[in-house]
Amino acid sequence: MKLDNLPRFHLAEFPTPIHYLETLTKKYQGPAVYMKRDDLTSLGMGGNKTRKLEFLIGEALEQKKDTLVTAGGIQSNHCRLTAAAARKAGLDCHLVLNGTPPEIPNGNLLLDTLFGAKIHFCDRAERDERLFQVGGELEEKGKKPYVIPVGGSNSIGSVGYVDAMLELVNQMDDLSITADSIVFATSSGGTQAGLALGAKIGGFKGDVLGISIDQVQAGPGPFPPVLTEIANGAAARLGSDIRLTESDFSLNYDYLGAGYAMPGELEFNAIQDLALHEGILLGPVYTARAMGGMLDLIKKGNFTKDQTVLFWHTGGTPELFAWADKFGQD
Ligand SMILES: *Cc1c(COP(=O)(O)O)cnc(C)c1O
Repeated sequence: MKLDNLPRFHLAEFPTPIHYLETLTKKYQGPAVYMKRDDLTSLGMGGNKTRKLEFLIGEALEQKKDTLVTAGGIQSNHCRLTAAAARKAGLDCHLVLNGTPPEIPNGNLLLDTLFGAKIHFCDRAERDERLFQVGGELEEKGKKPYVIPVGGSNSIGSVGYVDAMLELVNQMDDLSITADSIVFATSSGGTQAGLALGAKIGGFKGDVLGISIDQVQAGPGPFPPVLTEIANGAAARLGSDIRLTESDFSLNYDYLGAGYAMPGELEFNAIQDLALHEGILLGPVYTARAMGGMLDLIKKGNFTKDQTVLFWHTGGTPELFAWADKFGQD
């Protein structure tokens, strides 16, 4: 496999730790719950986009680009980490964010400004077009922009999660644990595509279950074709003959609630549960929704007591501060 030969820019220390969540496991009296701590990737408050950005920036530098351009919601973790990573790589960063700027920037938006990103606000409907417009405008000014799609979810970024899955397989070997299921938040698809491909390559036999955070985030159509395209692009890039089909992706759409970035009771309860039982923080948009979904599946008996479930913490904790008003009272 060509993974070691692909251009890569070092952003964080790997492997990230695996922790046994003993108190949570005891509380729910269900399967043993472990957590893979990709919230602890050591750059700009951490998260899953760091792994994708190592390969995206690797390519940007190889192509002698000088500016990263990407897009997302106003509390996008991907945009915040792109801004941080750009600094480490000595690149400029432009962000196209949909939403109305608040009077006082908070959460990820505050961090975007601290990392010195140039921010272009727009409406959600015009975001994707605006992303390429900004790239074009920079080019006209003589800059060399490298445009990264929403979530860094293309075949290049997704390679970061193929690598992550191989990392996990080795780590579980060392710890003598076998996960029956891996559960995580899925949205633009690069993480899930990489994990599913990595599972095939690394011989992981358990379920790789994405809890959908926003069914339409990856586009208006159904999600599995998007995942298949990203995964098979990554496989080709890696020189692997493996190809995935839509049935290789395990998805749950039961926890979409009021929609993207609209956390409710499920999310706030999961945040409190993990904070009070493990001292671990979740983000309201992604990881709290996925954790809330996983705990609900445990309560419903979807996993048996003798099984092991690994929650892949994909980060997003800075989002918490943008919902501070929701946590102010008991
Ligand atoms: C982006 C993100 C995800 C989803 O990853 P995708 O590769 O876009 O599916 C999950 N959790 C957090 C915290 C994220 O920022």
